[in-house]
Amino acid sequence: MSAEVIVTLKAGRHKSALKRHPWMFSGAVATVQGEPASGDTVLVRTSDGQPLGRAAWSPESQIRLRMWSFDPAERIDREFFSRRIHNAIALRERLFPGDDTNAWRVISSEADGIPGLIVDRYADTLVCQFLSAGAEAWKDVIVAELESIFAGLRIYERSEGDSRSKEGLPERQGLLSGDELPERIEVLEDGLRFNVDCAGGHKTGFYLDQRDNRIMLGTACEGADVLNCFSYTGGFAMQALAGGASQVTDVDVSAEALRIAVENVSLNGFDDGRYEQVEADVFHFLRSCRDSRKEFDVIVLDPPKFAASASQVDRASRGYKDINLLAMKLLRPGGLLFTFSCSGHITEPLFRKIVAGAALDAGREAHVLASLSQAPDHPVALHIPESWYLKGLLCRIS
Ligand code: SAH
Repeated sequence: MSAEVIVTLKAGRHKSALKRHPWMFSGAVATVQGEPASGDTVLVRTSDGQPLGRAAWSPESQIRLRMWSFDPAERIDREFFSRRIHNAIALRERLFPGDDTNAWRVISSEADGIPGLIVDRYADTLVCQFLSAGAEAWKDVIVAELESIFAGLRIYERSEGDSRSKEGLPERQGLLSGDELPERIEVLEDGLRFNVDCAGGHKTGFYLDQRDNRIMLGTACEGADVLNCFSYTGGFAMQALAGGASQVTDVDVSAEALRIAVENVSLNGFDDGRYEQVEADVFHFLRSCRDSRKEFDVIVLDPPKFAASASQVDRASRGYKDINLLAMKLLRPGGLLFTFSCSGHITEPLFRKIVAGAALDAGREAHVLASLSQAPDHPVALHIPESWYLKGLLCRIS
């Protein structure tokens, strides 16, 4: 067996590790003793030789090291992954004891102690993303462990997107275990039925992180005229219809997403004339509503990530302000705005500032009734601020 690779940090660069933040950047590395391959496990030490724990080596990424463990005595092996996976599953068993929901995030990367690994469950299917060199290196072990825990479930891989390329990893998509993936998986969320396209849909197929916010919307829609902007496959729309909305309008640029939204309306027996959809750019659509003096009682704004990096925060802020300002103008007095940002780089205080600025410029007053976040199967690790990416506000507009 070859000797363990030892990575020594520069003086003072182990401070983040003292706060248990798992990332260490390339500039923090002083020396590497050995020749680690991409994804190899290495021992990390402070500049004066104190062992900090073991990490995965990412030679291509600015995030050069992702700590697996802060206990130098802990071995990184199948048992390690088994422990972390079981720990993640135990949380979900507590969160979803009933049978009205069968789709949730099983493993949420850093927040579940396995940096770079996402596993989402959709009824009888697990969809995995291996997004870091370390997760990629342990893929076979992780899949074997998932197979033994979730016997009989299909396992499908969707390792793609920005994070893969930053790690120097090629995109990979396809079946890892079980029988062929059908075009649609039908899932239950809070008793509502949804079709999910795990191979072609966004992320792993569905925005599981908005579950609780969708449920909250449903409780606020009795008799309301609801506009659901950036609707995707109609997650918020189904809750609004179930909650007794008089009219619900989905707006999205994706024809494919809207097609699935129509399927979801039928699956739930909501084809009673209350639902309509518009394939359009939300920025244009809101302006045309303003020009034709249309009004709504409830508006949802759940845009895609406007800021993918810190350098995009200013431009993203203008985008968020624009849609919030327009939406506030369309709301009847006393109307409700559910507004979100899923940009990790837009902090909660900044988001509040943007929405406050929008209200001021719209000539409306906004009162926050609830501060919203990602659903608890996407836990926020307090020691990893980046793990809180979804922020939202429920505002009463007067
Ligand atoms: N609220 C949804 C998730 C929204 S994801 C849910 O609960 O499932 C963001 C959506 O915005 C995607 O469906 C994407 O197609 C759409 N989108 C992105 N830019 C858009 C634009 N400028 N106008 C309209 N839709 C847009």
